Amino acid sequence: MNKLLKEIKNCKKCNLCKTRIMPTIYCGNLNSDIVFIGEAPGKNEDETGVPFCGRAGKILDELLKDINLKREEVYITNIVKCRPPKNRDPKKEEIEECKFFLDQQIDLIKPKIICPLGRFSSKYILKKYLDKDYEIGEVHGKVFKVNNLFIIPMYHPAAAIYDRKKIETLKKDFKKIINNLKNI
Ligand code: URA
Repeated sequence: MNKLLKEIKNCKKCNLCKTRIMPTIYCGNLNSDIVFIGEAPGKNEDETGVPFCGRAGKILDELLKDINLKREEVYITNIVKCRPPKNRDPKKEEIEECKFFLDQQIDLIKPKIICPLGRFSSKYILKKYLDKDYEIGEVHGKVFKVNNLFIIPMYHPAAAIYDRKKIETLKKDFKKIINNLKNI
């Protein structure tokens, strides 16, 4: 893990290294069974290096609390480790360059449940494990079992900042984590 952290901190594989303050690598528990994968750091994350420490993070904390989990009990990361300027969507080539870090994180943590948050990480994870292209609208809250791994894609918590109705959908989908934790 230390070698990987060093590699990410020194990474200059894409242009985001020119505008970032610091990469955002992970927070939480290295021994957790559950990994959450967001999209990319925003302003707060770029300044602190801590994923989901801004407004979307507050919603993620609320969703975790609703299923009696704490941030310290899960592992949280992003598919892209450096902030895209003005919080634009990550570009295809940025995901391509960064995905190997996420792959290594997953290999090291060996989670039993992966929850990609939002369309970019959901697309990547479902393609990687199921070799299929899915849209988040059709798969959020569905449980995919690949060997002994459960994959449960979710809408991005930030979706509930602008549309509070999404919080109910997110809460319902997050309950699937608890249901499946009992089965592992
Ligand atoms: N949104 C993300 O996808 N990740 C973060 O770390 C913060 C906001």
